[in-house]
Amino acid sequence: MSRSNLVGLLPSELEDLAVSLGASRYRGRQIATWIYRKGAVELEAMSDLPKDLRKQLAESHEIGLPDLERATPSQDGSRKLVFRLADDRRVSAVLMPDDGRITLCLSTQVGCGYACVFCLTGTMGLDRNLTAGEIVGQLLAANTLLGDEGRVTHVVFMGMGEPLANYASLVAALRIMIDPKLGLAYSPKRLTVSTVGLVSGIDKLGREDLKVNLAISLHAATDDVRGRLMPINRSWNLEALMAAVKRYPLTSRQHVFFEYVMLEDVNDSAEDARALARLLRGVKAKVNLIPFNDWEGAHFRRPPLPRILAFQGVLLDAGITTTVRWSKGEDIGAACGQLKELASA
Ligand code: SF4
Repeated sequence: MSRSNLVGLLPSELEDLAVSLGASRYRGRQIATWIYRKGAVELEAMSDLPKDLRKQLAESHEIGLPDLERATPSQDGSRKLVFRLADDRRVSAVLMPDDGRITLCLSTQVGCGYACVFCLTGTMGLDRNLTAGEIVGQLLAANTLLGDEGRVTHVVFMGMGEPLANYASLVAALRIMIDPKLGLAYSPKRLTVSTVGLVSGIDKLGREDLKVNLAISLHAATDDVRGRLMPINRSWNLEALMAAVKRYPLTSRQHVFFEYVMLEDVNDSAEDARALARLLRGVKAKVNLIPFNDWEGAHFRRPPLPRILAFQGVLLDAGITTTVRWSKGEDIGAACGQLKELASA
């Protein structure tokens, strides 16, 4: 009989579990501390837990982390991590050290069902959602891999899949990461959930009051262009999306991030930039321009550098903080929208 995973259970659920095994809630808190604070990978390691309880736990539960199958270093210092899940499916995450930070971009689904036309992951369709344990497990495994190098400082939910389409697991994973006492104690400011624009999900996430950052995969500033690039725009157009963005609760120092992949002759003109500036009027926005990363079979090209910089200039002139983000890990197939081979490998 397969055993249930303790990783992915909220600290309160671990307390309930301890009670169901005839122990006190305190024992549940100890288990949470061992898994999330001390990085225990075996029940045996929980030395201050009574032996009987450990034995009982081991009969029905395990500490199951995704198996790190490969860690491929890139010339730019990032590392692509390929994880094998218990059912032999693969997902990937990318570790990106930068300026004293170590950011982990992790996956929330195997594949993705949203079929954005410029995205390699989108070509494979959705296979399945990840569990909360598989999401948190990527972070725990990355921290273990880092060892003496430190620990992940920032997490972005921008890997394979649409986080808000796997809502319950996403929120459970966020709660575990944020819990200051029994979880991983990340500040919500350091966690960013990226969405293709699921309006209902954005509203729901806002109501959770988790205070995590929101990033929107925007990629176009008119419904005409966005509708051609991203099928989701037919369900929720830009007006609906921007209304949801404006409803999302922000702390005084928070911004909403807008991701904009730059595609030559598709969305990279000065007029596109002006349309984007108009769209973002009244929004506390930061824009990340992502020059397209080529993949075999793609029908798009990266614009020449002067065009990218001119686009950025229009936004900067409009007072919008705008950075050009040269995707990390381009040479190892880990850049934005390149995470594909992994599910079926
Ligand atoms: S860009 Fe994001 S939402 Fe769109 S297909 Fe790719 S992974 Fe899915």
